[in-house]
Amino acid sequence: MADWTIEDAERVYRVNRWGAGYFEIGANGNLHITPVPGNPQVRIDFKSVIEEIKLEGIQFPVVVRFHDILRSQVAELNQTFRQKIEEAEYQGNYMGVYPVKVNQMREVVEEIADAGEAFNYGLEAGSKAELLTVLAYNTNEHALTILNGYKDEEFMRLALLGRKLGRKIFVVVEKYSELLSLVKIAKELDIDPLIGVRSKITVKGRGKWESSGGDRAKFGLTIAEIINATRYLEEHGMAHCLKLLHFHIGSQLTDIRSVKDAIGEGGRIYAELRHMGVELEYVDVGGGLGIDYDGSQSTNDSSRNYNLQEYVADVVYGMKEVCEQEGVPHPNLVSESGRFITAHHSCVITQIVGEIKPAAAAFDTTAEEGEHVLVDNMRDLHDTMDDSDNVQEIFNDASQWKEQALNAFKLSVISLTELAKIETLYWQIMSRLQPRLKNEEFVPEELKELDYNLSSQYLCNFSIFQSAADTWAIDQVLPVVPITRMNERPTVNCSLVDITCDSDGKIDQFVGEDGITDVLPMHPLQPGEDYYIGMFLTGAYQDVMGDMHNLFGRLNEVHIFSDDDDPEDFYIEEVVNGSSVSSVLSIMQYNPSSMAQNVKRVIDRHVAAGAIKPREGVKWTDFYENCLHGYTYLKHTK
Ligand SMILES: *Cc1c(COP(=O)(O)O)cnc(C)c1O
Repeated sequence: MADWTIEDAERVYRVNRWGAGYFEIGANGNLHITPVPGNPQVRIDFKSVIEEIKLEGIQFPVVVRFHDILRSQVAELNQTFRQKIEEAEYQGNYMGVYPVKVNQMREVVEEIADAGEAFNYGLEAGSKAELLTVLAYNTNEHALTILNGYKDEEFMRLALLGRKLGRKIFVVVEKYSELLSLVKIAKELDIDPLIGVRSKITVKGRGKWESSGGDRAKFGLTIAEIINATRYLEEHGMAHCLKLLHFHIGSQLTDIRSVKDAIGEGGRIYAELRHMGVELEYVDVGGGLGIDYDGSQSTNDSSRNYNLQEYVADVVYGMKEVCEQEGVPHPNLVSESGRFITAHHSCVITQIVGEIKPAAAAFDTTAEEGEHVLVDNMRDLHDTMDDSDNVQEIFNDASQWKEQALNAFKLSVISLTELAKIETLYWQIMSRLQPRLKNEEFVPEELKELDYNLSSQYLCNFSIFQSAADTWAIDQVLPVVPITRMNERPTVNCSLVDITCDSDGKIDQFVGEDGITDVLPMHPLQPGEDYYIGMFLTGAYQDVMGDMHNLFGRLNEVHIFSDDDDPEDFYIEEVVNGSSVSSVLSIMQYNPSSMAQNVKRVIDRHVAAGAIKPREGVKWTDFYENCLHGYTYLKHTK
């Protein structure tokens, strides 16, 4: 296979670019994982993970979580802040928090809290359910707990319970009336709250979430409201409780300039408030630290034009500069980076369960007596075209005849068989034109679509609405690569379709050789052999935003821990079963056991009437019940 190297595969799949040091194409053509970049001896061949999943009898699709990647990201974020703080001789500390909305899975939150213990890394909550979670899981008294989002009185009481338990729990005021209710309840319970205010700063992030900042932002106080808030607290003898200034200009910030601008503006507000006598101790810069999903290192929506080092440097040095100009103390720095912590740690692995071939499918086009002249014309073109003919001319002739044939068919001039022959010949002509387009200097728009129109569709056993909601909702690009055979030339250009009954259930944006492409080169399916693909960087938001479209529900999950002493360098620490049909039906208010009884009654009636043999009736009853308790996705048998 000397005509195809791993470097060629890397050029097609760009694993090094989006893999962030965790993923790489191995010399054997399989995807490899280095879950702790500082320890390259631990290297997992993804194929052996799949083998083990099969051995355990777990059905695909499966979410695979690498807990060590979570830990590595937590360590990297905290260490980078510490390094820059030291290097800049910055006086404050880094006191980061993980926003649980990005992935609220218990195992994920537990792992992050555990990995963050050494750094006093805390948690952030944005709803009552999340607050109840962080109260139970953020038990480190030195770490911060930050509460964002809209709050009711019960929410305030829970926060004050946290204070009673000795936690550094900040209520961030998102709208003015929350301040009044917080002050009222704090007085009633006689507990001093820790208060933050969220500023509606005017800097807008670029990218999909730019409306998180600016005048029309949903959250935050205007400057006037912040000043009023400080006066209100003073009047109530609680000025000393206001300790934190917060801003968040959006998720997945694509351009580093918006980070710099936000630090500049937020820093000024902090300094002015200090001058006014408000003893702020923390500045919380929110989330937004982006992920390079498409590997382009650009301001594309699915990328970013900076790395972690630059982001942290801009926060630390930017704040230092403002403070020194203004002669105010350096505040402790808080960030709420969620996407950065969780995106890499999980992926969805599934098999291709079928191929929807392009239209040039096999159909006998041999000439027959008395065929319509349009069939003859198309066949002539097909038989006589050669490489010296003008591509555009052939395309025009063929397209015109195909259109005429369709009209002729509608007018009963040609038969169904004749139409089938014309369409088959047309697509065969197109597939011969397609490779010649690469050599043409100028390719007209209509011919550019040939690549896409002549590509296959690989049918994947999963639902994008469950596993990759953002690819559907906001055109998020997520890397997709085959798990094996990357040492073979991929000869099938394809897009991916899922198993939902929805034509939107498809993926036709991929990380490609030169940016985003609409088809991905894959390997031909081989009879009797499963072809596994992975969709990567799904650990942030995608993991937890899925819906019940077509009642597919949650996926089976395996949690992988690395282990240097293990021959394969890993073990499956836990298996979490995905949704069974009966569990998703129950959510939709069905009663699976009475459904089973209904079906059994009908079967019994047919048995009584002699239409079904009793033994067979029992089998059908059991079969229905087994399916009811089974997995919602396709059971793929090779
Ligand atoms: C969503 C959110 C975050 C997390 O943002 P990422 O871009 O995932 O880091 C942080 N803070 C607030 C207030 C948020 O709403």
